[in-house]
Amino acid sequence: MTKEERKKIYDKAEELWGLVAQYDQAIEEMGELIVAINKYKRKCLYGEYNGNSKIIDNLIEEIADVKMCIEQLEGFVGEANVERVLDQKMQKFMGQIAEMTKVKQDKK
Ligand SMILES: [Mg+2]
Repeated sequence: MTKEERKKIYDKAEELWGLVAQYDQAIEEMGELIVAINKYKRKCLYGEYNGNSKIIDNLIEEIADVKMCIEQLEGFVGEANVERVLDQKMQKFMGQIAEMTKVKQDKK
């Protein structure tokens, strides 16, 4: 599905349930992602993983849910505005990475 097709669906959702409900849904989905990340960390990263792929499947599902909500929120505030700030933040992040890389090299 294209981004434009998804945007039409988001517009329809806003029309049907309203703006506040879309923000509430985003909050709920982000909460579910927090829980899924915690479960993934506990079960898969801290050594308790028993091969149950439902944990990873759930994490992927919650990431997709949040991604949908983020796309909706971008539509509310303007995708170009989000992209502009994202570029600024990525520049800052690149600086932090360069700085940390130097610190680690200096320690060797
Ligand atoms: Mg969810």
